[in-house]
Amino acid sequence: MPFQPTDYLPYDFANRRHIGPSPDEMADMLNVVGVDSLDQLIGETMPEAIRQQAPLSFGKALSERQMLRRMREVADKNKVLTSLIGMGYHGTVTPPAIQRNILENPAWYTAYTPYQPEISQGRLEALLNYQTMVSDLTGLEIANASLLDEATAAAEAMTMAQRVAKSKATAFFVDENCHPQNIAVMQTRAAPLGIEVIVGAPEDLEADKVFGAIFQYPGTYGHVRDFTAQMDALHEAKAAGIVIADPMALVLLKEPGAMGADIAVGSTQRFGVPLGYGGPHAAYMACRDSFKRAMPGRIVGVSVDARGNRAYRLALQTREQHIRREKATSNVCTAQALLAVMASMYAVFHGPNGLKAIAQRIHRKAVRLVQGLEEAGFKIEPETFFDTVTVEVGPLQQAVLKSAVDEGINLRPVGTTKVGITLDEAAVPETIEAVWRAFGITRADDRPGDWRLPDNALRETTILDHKIFHMNRAETEMMRYMRRLADRDLALDRAMIPLGSCTMKLNAAAEMNPISWPEFTDIHPFVPSDQAEGYHEMIADLSSKLCDITGYDDFSMQPNSGAQGEYAGLLTIAAYHRANGQGHRNVCLIPTSAHGTNPASANMVGWKVVPVKSMENGDIDLNDFLAKATEHSANLAGCMITYPSTHGVFEESVKEVCAITHEHGGQVYIDGANLNAMVGLSRPGDLGGDVSHLNLHKTFAIPHGGGGPGMGPIGVKSHLVPHLPGHPETGGEQGPVSAAPYGSASILAISWAYCLMMGGEGLTQATRVAILSGNYIAKRLEGAYDVLFKGPSGRVAHECIIDTRPFADSAGITVDDIAKRLMDCGFHAPTMSWPVAGTLMVEPTESETKAELDRFCDAMLAIREEIRDVEEGRIDAENNPLKNAPHTVEDLVGDWDRPYGREQGCYPPGAFRVDKYWAPVNRVDNVYGDRHLVCTCPPMEDYADAAE
Ligand SMILES: *Cc1c(COP(=O)(O)O)cnc(C)c1O
Repeated sequence: MPFQPTDYLPYDFANRRHIGPSPDEMADMLNVVGVDSLDQLIGETMPEAIRQQAPLSFGKALSERQMLRRMREVADKNKVLTSLIGMGYHGTVTPPAIQRNILENPAWYTAYTPYQPEISQGRLEALLNYQTMVSDLTGLEIANASLLDEATAAAEAMTMAQRVAKSKATAFFVDENCHPQNIAVMQTRAAPLGIEVIVGAPEDLEADKVFGAIFQYPGTYGHVRDFTAQMDALHEAKAAGIVIADPMALVLLKEPGAMGADIAVGSTQRFGVPLGYGGPHAAYMACRDSFKRAMPGRIVGVSVDARGNRAYRLALQTREQHIRREKATSNVCTAQALLAVMASMYAVFHGPNGLKAIAQRIHRKAVRLVQGLEEAGFKIEPETFFDTVTVEVGPLQQAVLKSAVDEGINLRPVGTTKVGITLDEAAVPETIEAVWRAFGITRADDRPGDWRLPDNALRETTILDHKIFHMNRAETEMMRYMRRLADRDLALDRAMIPLGSCTMKLNAAAEMNPISWPEFTDIHPFVPSDQAEGYHEMIADLSSKLCDITGYDDFSMQPNSGAQGEYAGLLTIAAYHRANGQGHRNVCLIPTSAHGTNPASANMVGWKVVPVKSMENGDIDLNDFLAKATEHSANLAGCMITYPSTHGVFEESVKEVCAITHEHGGQVYIDGANLNAMVGLSRPGDLGGDVSHLNLHKTFAIPHGGGGPGMGPIGVKSHLVPHLPGHPETGGEQGPVSAAPYGSASILAISWAYCLMMGGEGLTQATRVAILSGNYIAKRLEGAYDVLFKGPSGRVAHECIIDTRPFADSAGITVDDIAKRLMDCGFHAPTMSWPVAGTLMVEPTESETKAELDRFCDAMLAIREEIRDVEEGRIDAENNPLKNAPHTVEDLVGDWDRPYGREQGCYPPGAFRVDKYWAPVNRVDNVYGDRHLVCTCPPMEDYADAAE
């Protein structure tokens, strides 16, 4: 029957966007799982005692167009002025080719952290370019693949200096010319570790009193100083020297390495990454080769694959928190991969000459501006500068700032009598003329600018000599380079990424739209508050929704990753204890199964980690917990638990764990990374949690970006609200944990859009379907694999752990072999060897259709049969599809001498025929790469094929 014109169909897809299985598919899945309804399944999965009382309700779900209208209303409340405030944040021009092909391209933004190197070669190459760029600009051998922001990078450099310096001093010197938020974050980080921070002028450094010193270059007021003398003095005293350097200034100025610096950090924001009211942007860190093992964050290195071809992968992984746990010196996990990729592409796009032209233009604009002011009689400091000066205006400061705002320009108040001005790439002659008018000067910007760079601080070395930064400048080349790299990777735009605990769900297009709007991108984090009213409205509404979802009373949006949230939450607890005269409390109970960032964060606040055992079934061992809490009662600061547990089970005993902790005077930190199993059904605040972080880049639809950005806001109960992080720009009693008051504020729009389009009902349904999908996979794999850690009624939560350990004995097949074989099937492997070594943890999320879940199960079942072939001697134990995985096109060239066919090797169940994903390299040799560490682009002679 054709449609009749009177057949009015409801358009009820509002929540279907995020929910993969159709109603019919769900019915089939429930059938397979063996329940009559979703309600029954949830009832069997989630103990009644932990269920929330009232359903989640914050209004009706909005359609895409309604959400975008609401977003537009809010965006319009932000006032976009030209910000010449500086302080580490600059106007920049994002090349449209990069905006479209990277920032707005799901092939880049939906990728996961490149732990599986064979399917991550594209982003690994882009990150290696980033490291090469940073290493060149700073003149230091080793660079990492990004940190969270400049201020936290400075704090990481401080603690790194303490580790590498031979000096036994306990004080650290901070140049008073550092940006205020950098100083403040270093102070926050120093306090619990007992580091005394001495803030002073660079000339006043007493090197023998400190284990290290940090200087800002150029300084926050524009001074360009050569720190060679300070570095010499520090080395004399066996202390370490750090420079926070602006990468754009480094294009023209002497590099920190040439001054003798041991470590350099800074922000690459002005390499084409929008301001975004504070982020996200990539911070960098570089150091001498001899300090590489002390470096925080991820490092991309060069290795070889099974054929001896060059392949990239993450290097020196044993430095990371997931391995070092309470001995970890940094908790950085999610960083800023996507933004590092953007900054690296900016350098690839412009090349060394383009960057030089941009840096020169910025400088000459600053000189022209200064000349106009000087000719009108204003006193300018410093004499020589790169892009920043201060102008003495006496009692006129407020008047000048106000007339600048009337001209559409934000300047920086400095002290009570000065105004700071920082020029940038985006400034045009009209900008300069408008600034002049704010100072009462009417003239045209029509004269060429001179040079006012200090002669003794000019760069004498070349940068970006590598071929990759010298490709043809045609956009065609650039576009194809970005496409080629994207094609090498397997991201969510091709296949499910079933990562336990990492919740790789849909990042819907409509949710991503607003992050490119100028009303969100072009706002400096330190603008007067009345210019960011839209942001404040969005943040307030998102906070209130998150409070409803979690049962907490308030949120801090400052932490820009989950681990940062943990750190901020623990600091909040510590401040609360101090306020109650209980500042001695420093013991933290953490189950052995906890995510590695938990003990690392506790360590960073100076606490003593006491591990608590897990029982056979994965639950916290209550007896052990009680015993440890009792033993440490006098000093118990708190506990850190994960709910549902990292084993994917809703432990019935959670309330007891919380009660025991409270009885002994401790506070409860509930790691909220698994909130995708709880939203709308259960609230950590009701279970007894005092504070939790949420990973908005997991549960709340911010894409993973190949390893960041993220946001890890923390929710707290009312008694902790006064102790939340503050910020020099916005006030508060406590110090800041991030450079910007609201962390990476611009991407909050994604989570807000997600909440608006889901509504309370949609969010709850997402949780229910996530649990259904987890149980569906567990059921379909039953018999072939053991599923560990089921709840009392035989159910898992939103994820399941598949035991692959028996195959090591029965067939010599490891969890690695299975993970690599899944690549042949067109999948990203599940989480490997965590929380249980040798297992796979699968979390399908609500976003995958039944067809995709089945494709995954079919692949897993076929792999099981391949294992059986080895077990039963039908195929060679070394030369088989599992050991040879992943198969590449290279395998098809030349003779095929395998005991299985090409068809079986390359097209196992799950693999698409036409749309087959081919890993670009064979299995990567990790050990080789760590033995022969190369963290910058290999020399050009090795590089012949890379840009082809
Ligand atoms: C992802 C995760 C974290 C850390 O979050 P980041 O944003 O990567 O710092 C902490 N705990 C658990 C359980 C996680 O899954």
